[in-house]
Amino acid sequence: MKKLIIAIDGPAAAGKSSVAKLLAERLNYLYVDTGAMYRCITLLVLKNKVDVEDEDEIAKLLKDCNLSVSKSFFILNGEDVTHEIRSKKVSDNVSVVCAHPKVRMEMVNKQRELAKDGGVVLDGRDIGTFVFPNADVKIYQTANTETRSLRRYQENRAKGIDTSLEEVMQDIIKRDKMDSTRLLAPLMKAEDAVLIDTSSMNTEQTVNKIIDIIKTKTGEEFND
Ligand code: C5P
Repeated sequence: MKKLIIAIDGPAAAGKSSVAKLLAERLNYLYVDTGAMYRCITLLVLKNKVDVEDEDEIAKLLKDCNLSVSKSFFILNGEDVTHEIRSKKVSDNVSVVCAHPKVRMEMVNKQRELAKDGGVVLDGRDIGTFVFPNADVKIYQTANTETRSLRRYQENRAKGIDTSLEEVMQDIIKRDKMDSTRLLAPLMKAEDAVLIDTSSMNTEQTVNKIIDIIKTKTGEEFND
């Protein structure tokens, strides 16, 4: 059976990562969390005290940066930064850092390399529109702002990240605005993406729905 490229895009905290991770497990595919890649670069910029607006200095940092991505661990220059990349400071700055074309193209090349043999689920903002415009299956996963804020707030609390619900909501609104108005590869639904509103769906239900979409689209049966 053909090894597919499955793109899941959508706004912040729509539950894409949980869905993409479980979907990849069920299909025995690789999962690539592209948001985490941009978060790693943002952490690198902050640690090196480089101005988040300074594209050329950031590009220099990227040249010597060693980022390795596996299922749920992110290793930046030999250091496990899996938890640190979820901090408020990183969330506050990531949409500025990732809007620089030099940053995006470096990460996009890495994402294309990781997924070149297929059998991969990628989640992000521009996977179906820019990174893989010919992806086999494209999903645009969203939920209303209140639901997304509450989910992210609860996730943060479970991880011991101390933010108020209001702060979380403001962060989501701000990032969505920046992500959808940037010049290169903004957040938007690809014309041929299937929209799934998960406001009243859990992860399992969303994954089941995507598997049905994949079956219909490809005519393949999965032994998931
Ligand atoms: O998915 P997550 O919320 O962790 O992504 C963090 C940020 O990374 C997003 O708000 C967005 O600015 C950026 N991003 C992006 N393109 C992607 C994935 C994430 O610009 N493909």
